[in-house]
Amino acid sequence: MARFIFITGGVVSSLGKGLMAASLAALLQARGYKVRIRKFDPYLNVDPGTMSPYQHGEVYVTDDGAETDLDLGHYERFTGVAARQSDNVTSGRIYQQIIQKERRGDYLGATVQVIPHVTDAIKEFALAETDDLDFVLCEIGGTVGDIESLPFMEAIRQLRNELPRLSTVSVHVTLVPFIAAAGELKTKPTQHSVRELAALGIQPDVLLCRSEHPLPDSDRAKIAQFCNVRAEAVIPALDAASIYEVPMQYHAEGLDDEVLRAFGIGDARDPDLTRWYDVLDRYQNPEGEVTIGVVGKYVVLQDAYKSLREALVHGGLANRVKVNIRWLDAELFEDADELATRLEPLDAILVPGGFGERGSEGKIASVRYARENAIPFFGICLGMQMACIEGARNVSGIARASTTEFGDCEEPVVGLITEWMSEEGLQKREAGGDLGGTMRLGAYPARLAPNSHVASVYGTTEISERHRHRYEVNVHYRDALEKGGLVFSGESPDGELPEIVERPDHPWFIGVQFHPELKSKPFDPHPLFASFVAAAVKQSRLV
Ligand code: GLN
Repeated sequence: MARFIFITGGVVSSLGKGLMAASLAALLQARGYKVRIRKFDPYLNVDPGTMSPYQHGEVYVTDDGAETDLDLGHYERFTGVAARQSDNVTSGRIYQQIIQKERRGDYLGATVQVIPHVTDAIKEFALAETDDLDFVLCEIGGTVGDIESLPFMEAIRQLRNELPRLSTVSVHVTLVPFIAAAGELKTKPTQHSVRELAALGIQPDVLLCRSEHPLPDSDRAKIAQFCNVRAEAVIPALDAASIYEVPMQYHAEGLDDEVLRAFGIGDARDPDLTRWYDVLDRYQNPEGEVTIGVVGKYVVLQDAYKSLREALVHGGLANRVKVNIRWLDAELFEDADELATRLEPLDAILVPGGFGERGSEGKIASVRYARENAIPFFGICLGMQMACIEGARNVSGIARASTTEFGDCEEPVVGLITEWMSEEGLQKREAGGDLGGTMRLGAYPARLAPNSHVASVYGTTEISERHRHRYEVNVHYRDALEKGGLVFSGESPDGELPEIVERPDHPWFIGVQFHPELKSKPFDPHPLFASFVAAAVKQSRLV
């Protein structure tokens, strides 16, 4: 039976619980254990799919088409274990299920209550599909004391009581702030946070104390005494220079040893961290650098492009170069001088995924600049659609080309996908339908043209990539676009849906309808990102 690690946070939010969970899982995996990480989000949205990136950062999409919290991206990048729908649940989804059951009459007249019905549903979620695992790490979103997270805390308390002894461990992540006026670290917030957790019936086994300064032994002892945790299990977690150092840093501080000890496992193998040392070496010792511009809409909040940023870094690791990312607001590029001044110094240009019309003319102008100046260009999802509209307007002579996403248009080079085949059968959509969970979501296969640039990048003609879109490039414009030099080099197996376009007469110009950034890993960079960064390196040597 799997063992469970419950990860909660205290004092403040944004302590990096997700990264901590991912790092701990990576360390256990490096000892040969089979792991899976799950995220419980206490908010009432059914999933983050309809939430603004400004609110919630990126929506991470799994192979099985779930729109999930961006922490699942960390989990997958650090462990290589593909996340699934069953790895992320929100209060909203739990309540939705319960209310549906209640309406069906499944509760046979019982009063439906938070305890036991909501807590039972949470426990069921935690325990589902865990038989073949050694460890399941469950991260609870939010901070202890939040009203919203109470049912989750209660479910953990119950599980810790119901599961066999030594099969659950509680890790609590806190902050030990440095008070400059006193010149001291302060342990009181941690004490309060643990007291709050204990009042909910959860005594933590391991405390991970985030701080900007080293934690003196005296503070460690004080926290141990007041919080009822062994001093060795009070793990200092200093801010790290890069996320790739975190697993090694936590290992050096004894996190994985203490967690295993709390389970009563004393004789575990040492972790094999070879692949992490290789990643860190590549990251810390680059042999050059490139500057890549990302022309998007949500550039002030980089969490909105979390996986993209990571995938670009991974592309850098593959080429042993540092990737400097310039986040550029597409709206500014409606001014041609501004565009030329900002894009001219770049080694490559990327237009990422996005929704809505704002900034689209700036994105289209950026595609044009990259095309005309032979600068490596990568368009992802909306970015690919913009590349098609640019080609249609400026090369194929379809002046009124646009997408129906921005309103009615005369030349819908990009239009609403009204139906497509999925594993569950034919999916149909209508304009004005529900927004939540109704896009073409998750992994779909695509066929690549044998002699295309993308086929050589992937080294194969059969791929599977993750999608999240409602619009598609209209195949009826294929001939016109191809006459303008934009080749359709990847399509859905039935030939109905364009998946990739490229320009053979350009050094590196690829647009993809899917999100390759979601599958890139530091120790396994995505081939498109590795190749794009290689093209940027070449470009940097030209100028
Ligand atoms: N808004 C576009 C669509 O729905 C692109 C989506 C995206 O970039 N993820 O098709």
